Amino acid sequence: MMPALHLNAVVKTFGTGTARVDALKGVTLTIGAGELVAVMGPSGCGKSTLLNVMGLVVPASAGTVTVEGEEVTRSSDRSLARLRNRTFGYVRQDFALIDEDTIRQNVEVPLLYGGRRLRRKLRSQMCAESVGAAQLDVPLRRTVRTLSGGERQRVAIARALVGSPRIVLADEPTGALDSATSKAVIDLLVSVAERGSSVVIATHDEQVAARCGRIVQMHDGSLVDIGE
Ligand code: ADP
Repeated sequence: MMPALHLNAVVKTFGTGTARVDALKGVTLTIGAGELVAVMGPSGCGKSTLLNVMGLVVPASAGTVTVEGEEVTRSSDRSLARLRNRTFGYVRQDFALIDEDTIRQNVEVPLLYGGRRLRRKLRSQMCAESVGAAQLDVPLRRTVRTLSGGERQRVAIARALVGSPRIVLADEPTGALDSATSKAVIDLLVSVAERGSSVVIATHDEQVAARCGRIVQMHDGSLVDIGE
């Protein structure tokens, strides 16, 4: 089967001169369709940067990114945006929620910008389902600003999973959760992979990694073990 993602010799450099940081130093990695992969490594080793490059949020400085067989390194912003909203679900470490908006408005964003024309009622249903799956028992009309850290994390998870994206990236998705809710979230990500989507989780949590089919170890911008 065609891999979900392939990174070839990806380099990501931030800044210049003495401020230069080589966050990714030539990363080559394939994520198979339906794989559940943990990315582990010390803080600052490049896990978030790796997920940002995989999720087409930041461009690679060098190397190529291929999504479902299509090299996207030189794609237009418009087609990247469409891919991001349609093919990817991404739980960002900072959650990247819009505080002034309601849970529902935040969760439905990928449905509005993925190039699908879905009726309002269907969008509502999909949002409610995803919020339920993320174990968030709060009315969808609540403003995100009024939520706790753990609730916000679950809104971010609901938004990442709405519309059943084929590739799910999750950056420390259990960082703000107690252990019971963490377990529920990992169960959810495992079931997402079992249904055929690919899931990549950056985590420090051994219990999360233990549930993944494969563990990739990073150190100082390089992969030291790709777990195969
Ligand atoms: P991790 O997720 O493993 O903690 P990151 O990918 O966040 O690691 O960071 C890797 C390195 O890249 C760190 O040295 C970090 O300071 C640097 N870095 C990340 N994003 C930026 C940025 N936007 N500008 C400058 N440096 C950055």
